[in-house]
Amino acid sequence: MSYDTQPKGSHFIDGAYVEDTAGTPIEVIYPATGEVIATVHAATDAVIEQALDSARRAQAEWAATSPRERGRVLTRAAQILRERNREMSELETRDTGKPLQETLVADATSGADALEYFGGIAAGLTGEHIPLGEDWAYTVREPLGVCVGIGAWNYPTQIACWKAGPALACGNAMVFKPSETTPLCTLKVAEILVEAGLPAGLFNVVQGAGPVGAALTTDPRVAKVSLTGSVPTGRKVYSAAADSLKHVTMELGGKSPLIVFDDASLEDALGGAIMANFYSSGQICTNGTRVFVQKGLRERFVQRMAERMKGAVIGDPLDEATNFGPLVSARQMEIVEGYLKIAQDEGARCVTGGERIDRPGYWMTPALFDGVTDDMTMAKEEIFGPVLSVLEFDDEDEVVERANTTTFGLAAGVFTRDISRAHRVIGRLEAGTCFINSYNDAPVEMPFGGVKMSGVGRENAKAAIEHYSQVKSVYVRMGAVEAPF
Ligand code: NDP
Repeated sequence: MSYDTQPKGSHFIDGAYVEDTAGTPIEVIYPATGEVIATVHAATDAVIEQALDSARRAQAEWAATSPRERGRVLTRAAQILRERNREMSELETRDTGKPLQETLVADATSGADALEYFGGIAAGLTGEHIPLGEDWAYTVREPLGVCVGIGAWNYPTQIACWKAGPALACGNAMVFKPSETTPLCTLKVAEILVEAGLPAGLFNVVQGAGPVGAALTTDPRVAKVSLTGSVPTGRKVYSAAADSLKHVTMELGGKSPLIVFDDASLEDALGGAIMANFYSSGQICTNGTRVFVQKGLRERFVQRMAERMKGAVIGDPLDEATNFGPLVSARQMEIVEGYLKIAQDEGARCVTGGERIDRPGYWMTPALFDGVTDDMTMAKEEIFGPVLSVLEFDDEDEVVERANTTTFGLAAGVFTRDISRAHRVIGRLEAGTCFINSYNDAPVEMPFGGVKMSGVGRENAKAAIEHYSQVKSVYVRMGAVEAPF
């Protein structure tokens, strides 16, 4: 392969690439072909130590830097990221297999949005003045210290920037561990931040699998852990972090409902359902994988969906005409295939797709299932693949109850032309991130996160600031101190 994907070192610490070949080798595989495109090494204890030590040293000075200057560095990094969008997008495509048509608009660009947004608000982060008669109090918003970010493999650049942006704006340092499946892009983000003027040590990247994440999570020097991953991993990381009462943000999985009433614009609802199930080959946490369609519309919905799915252009992800890529790994493909087998056994009707494509890499056609019922495994568990399940419903109360019958609560959507019903239904759905007549938009200005088992805390928007800073309250007495003796 002519494109040079091998990074200069596995890790990025204290402003430079670092290698330690004593760590377990991790092969980076291009999901579209199955080829090994790079090899990195998992962080050894020495590398983890170096990363945490440099972060701790750098953080104190960064916290004392004026917020305006911190913001300026982030906005500069956003600009560089945008200038390199094509290069970054091609790397992201090789790292994840997602089509370039997507990565050009949804990864480095979304990362740049986050750096720009938090860069922009850094100087405006202030405390409060609280009048108390003669006395008064004030609050100071302080950084937490060293924060750890742990990422999933579906949006490596975006996840790194969504965590780095608010962390750095608030004056923290971050040590980031990407998923071992997609280790490449975060290193580039670290390079760009330094190029933009971020002092060495404030954004360090260490590679490795779960044990490296676990070592970071339990280290006493770490004040906060922000994880994007599955619920089982979230439970482990949350409880490990609780031992030393660390702050946490947990962005976890979902099994989100997308409700289509029979008065909805059919083509818009279909578009929403496509975005909610097939973008990134269905590997998106917020996906609306339980598509509840009202009885009168169900048949037409399924028929038109099958027609629209013929528009999937499956092919070389680096060809911008391709709009549907492979799954991220052989393992993920096996997981999805396992769910498809269970779906057939449990009596769901496969309308189209779900077949393995005979070519190197991890390819499968997008799948549409009809006749799915609430008790089926595919309606209960997160599949994380291109599988759309259609469930029929009669009325509003029924669908709200069924939609909420899940331990997850990440996202939810509703398609209807009845404006009152749209807001009423969204108001009753137990989900953190909701959409009306749309699906899967994630602008940085809007808080993002889940309720119930889907997460704790929020990313993006001003809400993220609460999770990367802490408030110090100061009481100021203006007169004499009265004391009993
Ligand atoms: P995993 O939960 O398997 O892994 C997430 C990250 O945690 C990886 O970097 C992983 O390392 C690391 N990890 C695993 N075990 C531990 C541990 N004990 N301590 C610390 N870190 C650990 O998720 P996937 O990478 O498979 O991503 C898919 C999941 O992520 C889906 O469930 C999806 O819903 C969720 N997700 C949630 C999003 C959200 O914002 N809500 C967004 C995107 C995805 P490694 O994999 O290298 O072993």
